[in-house]
Amino acid sequence: MKINFQQTRYNPLEFEEKIYKFWSSYFKPKNKGKKFIILIAPPNITGSLHLGHALQNIVLDVIWRYKKMNGYDCVWIPGVDHAGIATQNVVEKELRKEGLSRISLGRKKFIQRIWQWRGKYGNIILDQFKKLGLSLDWSRVKFTLDKKYVDWVEKSFVSYYKKGYVYRDLRPVNFCPHCQTSLSDLELDYKEREASLYYIRYPLSGGGHVTITTTRPETMFGDVALAVNPKDEKNFNLIGKIGILPIVQRELPIVVDSRIDPKFGTGILKVTPAHSLIDYEISLRHQLPMISVIDENAKMNKNAGEFQGLDYLTAREKIVSKLKELDLIEKIEQIKHNLPVCDRCGSEIQVIPSKEWFLKMKDLANLAVKAVKDKEVEIYPVRFKKPYFDWLRDVRDWCISRKIWWGQQMPVWFCKNCGDEIFTVSLKKPIKKCTKCKKSNWQRTEEVFDTWFSSALWPFAILYTPYEKKFYPANLVATAREILQLWITRMIFSGKFFMRKEPFKFVFVNPTVLTKEGKRMSKSLGTGIDPLELIQKYGTDALRFGILWQMSAHQDLRFDFVPIEQGQKFLNKIWNAYRFYFLNIENFKKNLNKNKVSSSDKKILKHIESTKKFVSKKIENFELGLALKRVYNFFWHELCDVYLETWKGKTKNNPDVFEKVMVESLIILHPFLPYLTQFLYFSFGHKKPLFFEEWQ
Ligand SMILES: [Zn+2]
Ligand SMILES: [Zn+2]
Repeated sequence: MKINFQQTRYNPLEFEEKIYKFWSSYFKPKNKGKKFIILIAPPNITGSLHLGHALQNIVLDVIWRYKKMNGYDCVWIPGVDHAGIATQNVVEKELRKEGLSRISLGRKKFIQRIWQWRGKYGNIILDQFKKLGLSLDWSRVKFTLDKKYVDWVEKSFVSYYKKGYVYRDLRPVNFCPHCQTSLSDLELDYKEREASLYYIRYPLSGGGHVTITTTRPETMFGDVALAVNPKDEKNFNLIGKIGILPIVQRELPIVVDSRIDPKFGTGILKVTPAHSLIDYEISLRHQLPMISVIDENAKMNKNAGEFQGLDYLTAREKIVSKLKELDLIEKIEQIKHNLPVCDRCGSEIQVIPSKEWFLKMKDLANLAVKAVKDKEVEIYPVRFKKPYFDWLRDVRDWCISRKIWWGQQMPVWFCKNCGDEIFTVSLKKPIKKCTKCKKSNWQRTEEVFDTWFSSALWPFAILYTPYEKKFYPANLVATAREILQLWITRMIFSGKFFMRKEPFKFVFVNPTVLTKEGKRMSKSLGTGIDPLELIQKYGTDALRFGILWQMSAHQDLRFDFVPIEQGQKFLNKIWNAYRFYFLNIENFKKNLNKNKVSSSDKKILKHIESTKKFVSKKIENFELGLALKRVYNFFWHELCDVYLETWKGKTKNNPDVFEKVMVESLIILHPFLPYLTQFLYFSFGHKKPLFFEEWQ
């Protein structure tokens, strides 16, 4: 790289790409010394870089470079997640433009089509990660659908199954009629909507009636009971009586359950286990049956009698008008309520019974609780321990199957002759005979695993070779708070279960990047900011500076451009300080090499020592904003304002100390501003990466 110190402004775009290429081959671990292993949060192959990714990975990169200079053999493996539902949706959208559909193509061709898509677009996000200057080991890029990764996913399922942790059950699940798959609670968004709350009279056997309240009258044909809270005095006299379901005249026992909110409506609720998760739990406690009335396409099924075949909203209207005719509607109230929608496509979620695979969570959740309680895993900031424990305490069994096509297909085999009641769980197609038809005619299920089931195995499933297997457990993982439960908890119990050891020592829950006004950043709301545009305009170092500068005391970060501009000014300040050094050092060395170490020299050396100490402490505590501010003050004020000034005019300073000070300063600045410091380091005649220098 040609150095031209005649120019008085540093232009990052000239150098950053070349420097990154130069570094790339040095990001590999050296296989000697103490390891420091960082785990990446693999981005979705459909993803594109946002400021959240940028913040999280810049933090990790600062730590990587700092640890590297402190003598650690650093390991940071990049990779991407296949993102089942998200990717399938993107490719289906593409197909629709061509007048095709997933169904018209068939499974095999559709999967081929996604692989094509993946070849074209699936690594874009990783290329964007490179632009942040991340010190990732590019010789080991992992993908959750690599053969070896898939092997781990299948093996772990079979192992859970053999140990009795997995079962198959017909249960109500959250189901997206558009994506045609079940979803976990954590994959739902909630939209506040106006809704009607219907007060419906249900006659009582023996005369009189009760009034129940519901927002979903179309599910009434699935009612199997009525329920009141045991502490609800106004409804106490109903216990033991029998209600009659209007239109179909089915008898409904009236049960008591403490989950009923006595303040909601009349305090009397209909129990519809097939279409409500809470009602399902009530039904288990009271041994009630499950009658489904809505199917996977959100249409009414045969149990809805005359309303069969209707879309659920149309059915709602028709049922309400029929109830009005029968004079069974007492009143209708307008309320606001939170409607669950699919976080991928925005469709309204239906709760419907579906045969799914579940992972028993009780023991596994305990493993995750224990690991944090015993401090095998530490969570920073500590306030995030509470939501971690809360979630694990109330966790339901985890539905790990998805009825989509893109993902790791489950190693489950059904008998073609006997239907889905007879199945075998095994890695290979079974040879044994079906217990019912005595034939061996097995067919693999079309179901795939929940994407989070596979990413729960990430810390060890990415380690393919005997050498890589040494990279377990990791030292550090960073996470956005919204995936603390989805991902971190599940990695911890999976690690404890399969590897008998926690998957990482520290979890850093990184701040969320908000808009300047404190709102959520979102592309669709037009409040997103593209980090790539910022890099194009200011360069990566300035972006890193701007983001890190705004990180303080683990608060959420309200994103502002001013610190990036301040970063740009700082880079110019650094540039000009080194310009002064390089334009004068030869002369100084010629004329002043007999000078002893001056008091200014001693002072600046002391400042270097104390800055290093302070910065080390702050980096170890994830307080990178404070670390950067100290580095900034050191360089701008102690070095430029004071020490450099003593070189102008008559000086008693020592030029060898000057050289040492300027190299040491590069070391201190490097974790934050890697590009400019590397560039200046070359100017000293060095040929190696600056992160090979020693911090101490
Ligand atoms: Zn959906
Ligand atoms: Zn059979």
